[in-house]
Amino acid sequence: MEYCMDKMKYGKKEIEKIREALVYSPVLVWDALGTADKKKVFSFCEGYKKFLDRAKTEREAVECILNLIKDKGFSEDVTQGSLKPFVKVFRGKSLALVRPGTAPVEDGIRLLISHIDSPRLDLKQKPLYEDVDLAFFKSHYYGGIKKYQWVNRPLAIHGRIIRSDGSVLDIAIGEDDSDPVFTVLDLLPHLAKKVQYDKKLNEAITGEKLNIVVGGLPLGDNKTKDRFRLSVLNYLNETLGLVEEDLISAELEVVPAGKARDVGLDRSLLGAYGQDDRSSAYASLKAVLDMKNSEKTAVALFVDKEEIGSDGATGAKSNFLESVIWDLMLNMGIEPSAYKAYRVLADSRALSADVNGALDPDYQDVHEKRNAALLGYGVCLTKFTGHGGKSGANDADAEYVGWLRRLFNRKKVVWQSGELGKVDEGGGGTAAKFLAVYGMNIIDCGPAVLSMHSPFEISHKGDIYMTYKGFRAFLEAP
Ligand SMILES: [Zn+2]
Repeated sequence: MEYCMDKMKYGKKEIEKIREALVYSPVLVWDALGTADKKKVFSFCEGYKKFLDRAKTEREAVECILNLIKDKGFSEDVTQGSLKPFVKVFRGKSLALVRPGTAPVEDGIRLLISHIDSPRLDLKQKPLYEDVDLAFFKSHYYGGIKKYQWVNRPLAIHGRIIRSDGSVLDIAIGEDDSDPVFTVLDLLPHLAKKVQYDKKLNEAITGEKLNIVVGGLPLGDNKTKDRFRLSVLNYLNETLGLVEEDLISAELEVVPAGKARDVGLDRSLLGAYGQDDRSSAYASLKAVLDMKNSEKTAVALFVDKEEIGSDGATGAKSNFLESVIWDLMLNMGIEPSAYKAYRVLADSRALSADVNGALDPDYQDVHEKRNAALLGYGVCLTKFTGHGGKSGANDADAEYVGWLRRLFNRKKVVWQSGELGKVDEGGGGTAAKFLAVYGMNIIDCGPAVLSMHSPFEISHKGDIYMTYKGFRAFLEAP
């Protein structure tokens, strides 16, 4: 086709019209919202902050979700042909909420999958020792952390211990104002030149130096062996009924102590531990609870172990989703079969509800600015993940992106497209690729955050709200 040369002579107004009609420009959430909607954004985030405070581990997230769905009509049993919403918990660490739709399940479901684990320090199984008259717990970090971020900060210990008699003890020490906290020590700058300053950042603090201070009172006099270690054991025994061997049958997670906070004088931002990926988990939960009855069956899956590759019984690579689909078929009065289950999954549409890294104002060089996600520009669609030449990627197809884009535009969801960093810079993945094997349409979708995987991740309140709005539109769409 020939290009009309006359168009080169267009005036300013005509050129502006062309620009408006043709050029894609992302929209800042605040520019798209009226006063009433802005209030909704802030009130939505009050609930989100409470969720973050109560759900600092995967187990706590499951408990918290179960509390929030109380009296909302979710049955804990699957009854043949009941067509009622149900909840399925797996080993206390992953959970599915299912809301059957009016359409036959063979037409596929709408699936949101988010993860409820976050990077942290796990206690080793034989954690307790003493050194230089202080008692410590050894830790083993979980997920992708920058080790230097975990020193010199108040930490809390959350988790579960199975005692020798088989009884279960859940603890969370360090969150209440009256609780003690814990910490990892760091070297004073005066002596850090050779052992830290001359090293690479990720070598300056090693994994075996992430030791947690837990005590400093001795038991007995200076002739008593291991009296600081013994003192901690004695305390644990007197207050919690524990003996040292109990710590072997325990999952104790060390997380930043303290609550989610508003950030900035205008409170437009939110800072907290674990927003990857509890932001998407909370938005998924709220979307399932608030959605109007819809045609398609809605499933929100909350999984564990994403931060270490989705392996294990409670991760996205397990067959938890398949078992949920079998239950769903029973619930809808269909004779379950593997053939039908795979057909349902292949015909489904899914959002891998997870965060992306926002363009960092201080490190813009690692991003390719035209394609980076921006804080405050709404829920982010990440067409592909992976690293290098899309290695290890889930890559959603154009048709699916086209469907979602039209849906979000129609429903006035402020959204953007983003990728994680420059092509050769690094990368990462999510649970999406493990579900894509079923043949379903799946794409990463969630808020962009700053300081991702740090003890204090930063999100934009407008993005959190748009994530909820996007997820809800997705579940309600015919
Ligand atoms: Zn994540």
